[in-house]
Amino acid sequence: MSQPSSSELQSSRPPAPEGAATRLIACRDCDLLQQEVPLERHADAHCIRCNSVLYRGTRTGMNLMLSLMLACAFLLIVSNVFPIAVLEAQGTRVEATLFSTVLTVYDQGRELVALLVLLTTIVLPALEIGCLLYLLVPLWLGRPASRTPLVFRLVMAIHPWSMMEIFLLGVLVTLVKLNDFATIIPGVSLWSFCALIVFFTAASSAFSTRDFWEWVVSSQAGQLEELPQ
Ligand SMILES: [Zn+2]
Repeated sequence: MSQPSSSELQSSRPPAPEGAATRLIACRDCDLLQQEVPLERHADAHCIRCNSVLYRGTRTGMNLMLSLMLACAFLLIVSNVFPIAVLEAQGTRVEATLFSTVLTVYDQGRELVALLVLLTTIVLPALEIGCLLYLLVPLWLGRPASRTPLVFRLVMAIHPWSMMEIFLLGVLVTLVKLNDFATIIPGVSLWSFCALIVFFTAASSAFSTRDFWEWVVSSQAGQLEELPQ
């Protein structure tokens, strides 16, 4: 995390000139109220008392964010449709997809593990990507989606539970171990799943909560301007 810089907030800052908009923000860790200051791109504002991050400067534009989420949605569909690997041994050929992997774990009597894999690898990433597209597409069209705060809170709650990279690591270890007993042919899904993790990580690091709400506010302002006087 970057160190406080000249953009660091000053709670003892002199009052803003009359007429200038002054916004206050409370530190989530120590509750200290501080004035917001404009930040440079990719800079962070830190609390002057506890040094925790108060807010981040602009990370990315809406077009890039929407493009990343559309790419993630496409890669998630490809990852679920095509096999992750084809195993050939003694004349037998088995195609393993993401979902058939869950079913195999379930059939082995590990219902809880199967449920966890299903949720963290397929259901929750799909829900998160779907919710973000639900929020971003209307914003891109100039109008915020209905129930935006509720859906955004859902995205924030889901995000820590998407663990696709852990699943991929498990699959790779298993494939390397199985290589001694069977011929392993990596499937389309394996590559698309790797690409999905890269795109999803890029989108997560580029996403700024502050940017998102700025987009919502500016789209609402645009809507108000469109209203007949
Ligand atoms: Zn603080």
